[in-house]
Amino acid sequence: MKKKMKKSGRRKSVAGAARGTKPVAVKAQKTTQRGAGANPARVAAILAKLDEAYPAASCELTHGNAFQLLISTILSAQCTDVRVNQVTATLFPKYPTAEAFAHANPAELEREIRPTGFFRNKTKSIMGASKAILENFGGQVPRTMEEILTLPGVARKTANVVLGTAYGIASGVVVDTHVQRLSQRLDLTRNEDPKKIEQDLIEIIPTEKWILFSHQLIWHGRRVCVARKPRCIECNLEKLCYSKDRTI
Ligand code: SF4
Repeated sequence: MKKKMKKSGRRKSVAGAARGTKPVAVKAQKTTQRGAGANPARVAAILAKLDEAYPAASCELTHGNAFQLLISTILSAQCTDVRVNQVTATLFPKYPTAEAFAHANPAELEREIRPTGFFRNKTKSIMGASKAILENFGGQVPRTMEEILTLPGVARKTANVVLGTAYGIASGVVVDTHVQRLSQRLDLTRNEDPKKIEQDLIEIIPTEKWILFSHQLIWHGRRVCVARKPRCIECNLEKLCYSKDRTI
């Protein structure tokens, strides 16, 4: 009986979307912090719309290999990809390997990456990660979540970016500021903590979609569903969205 009631709630929400009316949020289940909109049919509809809008979304950090992507991702904390790409355009030719970064002059490296912000911590992370890669992983960025998380300055977000984009390994979902905001606006999660948001997304997004889905949400967050005033009039998810932040 219980099951039947849940099913009919889902149908109501999706049917509303299909007719082009404003979808109605169903009540959140008590046992989860996942959003009420995280039912399979609605998630599938959102994924289809993201595929339609961003079939080839990809990482916008310029990199030539997994190591460079790792460095760029560390630099991208609290900084735009555009700024990071400007800095790495001269940084990577000067430090072409993990060895070069590991033996860099810290004060010099700090100066070089200063435009990306938090340059002292980032220098420590870059040099520490480079040394660990040389000493523990034979000069190669490791390919497992467990191993990559042992590198200084590398948490799940960076690990997911590198494993997913450089190696094509679906280890999880990247939860940056855009993925966090959009997952909440689309009512896929009601969590605030990125780790919990990732768990919610992992449960509802098919594994084979994890990598692309992260890129698609980041692209949508940069181009349309921006933080301050989302451009809902341009949004192809508008009929599926009942966020309080909607501008139309
Ligand atoms: S309708 Fe507006 S708030 Fe909803 S996903 Fe689109 S841009 Fe974001």
